[in-house]
Amino acid sequence: MQQEILNRLNDMVERVLAGELLTEDEGRWLIRLDAGYLPQLMAGADRIRRHFRGEAVEACGISNVRSGNCSENCSFCSQSGHHKAATAPVYGYIAETDLVAQAQRLRSLGATDFGIVSKGWGVRGNKEKGKLQDYLANLREHSDIGRCASLGALDESMARELKAMGLENYHHNLECAESFFENVCTTHSYQENIDTIQAAQQAGMRVCAGGILGMGESLDQRVELAMTLRALNVESVPLNFLNPQPGTPMGHLPKMEPRECLHMIAVFRYLLPQAEIRIAGGRTHMRDLQAMIFYAGASGVMIGDYLTTAGRKVEDDLQMLRDLGVTIRGDTFQRRAQQAQEQATGLS
Ligand code: SF4
Repeated sequence: MQQEILNRLNDMVERVLAGELLTEDEGRWLIRLDAGYLPQLMAGADRIRRHFRGEAVEACGISNVRSGNCSENCSFCSQSGHHKAATAPVYGYIAETDLVAQAQRLRSLGATDFGIVSKGWGVRGNKEKGKLQDYLANLREHSDIGRCASLGALDESMARELKAMGLENYHHNLECAESFFENVCTTHSYQENIDTIQAAQQAGMRVCAGGILGMGESLDQRVELAMTLRALNVESVPLNFLNPQPGTPMGHLPKMEPRECLHMIAVFRYLLPQAEIRIAGGRTHMRDLQAMIFYAGASGVMIGDYLTTAGRKVEDDLQMLRDLGVTIRGDTFQRRAQQAQEQATGLS
């Protein structure tokens, strides 16, 4: 039986390397593999990652530019104004100079992309637009770091406005499978998330969309999330592991075990072979095993602090990458050069 399982696993890896996409049923089989097969599962994920994404990885960072008292009721989030006992800091937009200083520091440490993250559900009004314009203009002037943002819902016209301001990547998580979403949020719909992703894509931005695992969803629902992301042609998939926050409806949930996190990263790599799978919030739950995320198929990592929780020291992350012999890739710069070339030759 053991050999039969290993043969099936190996066959899947070879098919993925040959360009085939695995089915949802195959994803359900992979996600239920006994933990004893984790080394073999990861070895396959590592081959797939190297084949489609290369040896180097992406590193990005974020700034939470406006926090707390959010109109939405996402059950995992301490910034929601609906969770009165939650303890996320509440503050308005930070100064442009602080944003630029954070971006420059992360860039000097090797990050290639930097996300402006604001609580709330979309860009509302000229004041907010003006602030974003200032942020993006300042980042553009004072750093060559890739410009990303996560601002909630967008329609295509707003997405085009942000692109014209200099935004390059848009982050908007689906958070979970559609069949689980009612447990996560009821103030906006899953369809609004999908519409936002598609609006950003249509405006010509690279989309970064993933989810949070460990919110009480089933294994099948994790596979469902991966299949939805694949159907949406999302290029970059951040995977977070729930960091249960006191005062939120999910504050009592247990943290995922490190080996389960590795297993999930590997399954997402098998199902999304070409995506940039980047590990974000909750990575520190993996303790020492976080050094194995790339061997499990991740091709990117968020460095620095997360939205409302502290990350590891950036210096420790960079030491981890050096110890692994992993270099940081500059996809953003390659894309810019390619776009400039296409514009010069009249292709876009
Ligand atoms: S996840 Fe975003 S939209 Fe949801 S409550 Fe938190 S800040 Fe608001």
